[in-house]
Amino acid sequence: MILEGFEALKSFLEEPKNIVIVGHRNPDGDAMGSTLALKHYFDKKEHKATVVVPNEYPDFLHWLPGSDTTYRFDWQNSQSQRAIKASEIIFLLDFNALHRVGSDMQKTLEKYPNDFVMIDHHQQPDVVKYMYSDVTICSTSQMVYQFIEMNNDLHLIDADIATCLYTGIMTDTGSFRFRSTTSTTHRIIADLIDKGAKNDKIHNNVYDSNSHNRLLLLGQALSNLQILPSYNTAYITLSSEEKKRFDFQKGDTEGVVNYALSLKGIIFAAIFIEDSEQSIIKISFRSKGGFSVNQFSRNHYNGGGHNNAAGGKSYRSMQETITEFVSLLPKYQKALEESYED
Ligand code: 5GP
Ligand code: MN
Repeated sequence: MILEGFEALKSFLEEPKNIVIVGHRNPDGDAMGSTLALKHYFDKKEHKATVVVPNEYPDFLHWLPGSDTTYRFDWQNSQSQRAIKASEIIFLLDFNALHRVGSDMQKTLEKYPNDFVMIDHHQQPDVVKYMYSDVTICSTSQMVYQFIEMNNDLHLIDADIATCLYTGIMTDTGSFRFRSTTSTTHRIIADLIDKGAKNDKIHNNVYDSNSHNRLLLLGQALSNLQILPSYNTAYITLSSEEKKRFDFQKGDTEGVVNYALSLKGIIFAAIFIEDSEQSIIKISFRSKGGFSVNQFSRNHYNGGGHNNAAGGKSYRSMQETITEFVSLLPKYQKALEESYED
């Protein structure tokens, strides 16, 4: 755990401040939950806080309290720039390096004259003035709860804050099943329910709001699944053409990689998704046990993340990307075998 400069930050925040809170590109449940929760908390503390995210986030997160007050840097560029310019400090949530906001927003943040605060749980964080980094914590949303606790402000958590934090913790822990889910996580979740998070409604809003096309796209993904038993590995592909056929919307492929990991005997899973707009293959990796997909993705795919969930990209064609991926596996066979637990 790294906790850097928090006493100084506390004094800085004693007077009302103009604050911007930033999440990573392609925001997920934890990015949206943690940024919005922190915004609501700061607003209660008489600050003025604005959430700015780089680009669109999935429909199944638009119901989050405060979602309508956020700015999208790509789409609401002048409002976003104005908010950043007016701010006295920027909080960076749920990412560990400035490039994770995408190149346009990165350029703006690199010119920012004031200080950054990072609250994040990813491996190998960049260093900024104020840091709260802990790679053992399941979600940035849990860290925001603990940040509020460090400020002795748990009594300020209302139903909106509790709902945002619950959503972030739930989505980043795969509904409380990953190893990073601890008894502390469950105690925090219990407190959030006591403070007004409606757990059934949140699960329903996030997981039971599929379109028919999304399920058909999932069907396509599952029929593309390939299994490599000798490496305890399985992978899924989705081409641009397939995405188009099922009217792909942002967020439709979220969680699909977990189906590959749900196979008995599989501890390493990948999904390769063609993105013809960016001319890349976006890759998500997942693992069980000690096999670090963060390291694998850093080594070969310009990416990173956590030990058991990481992402990266390939600039080759789908076919070349798959051929390369399969050709890498023999080098990792021993690590994969050692990581396999019955
Ligand atoms: P997902 O596969 O769900 O997009 O991401 C899994 C984890 O890896 C998330 O924590 C995400 O922030 C991180 N991640 C995803 N893509 C990238 C990437 O291209 N670079 C880095 N450094 N991290 C990524
Ligand atoms: Mn996260």
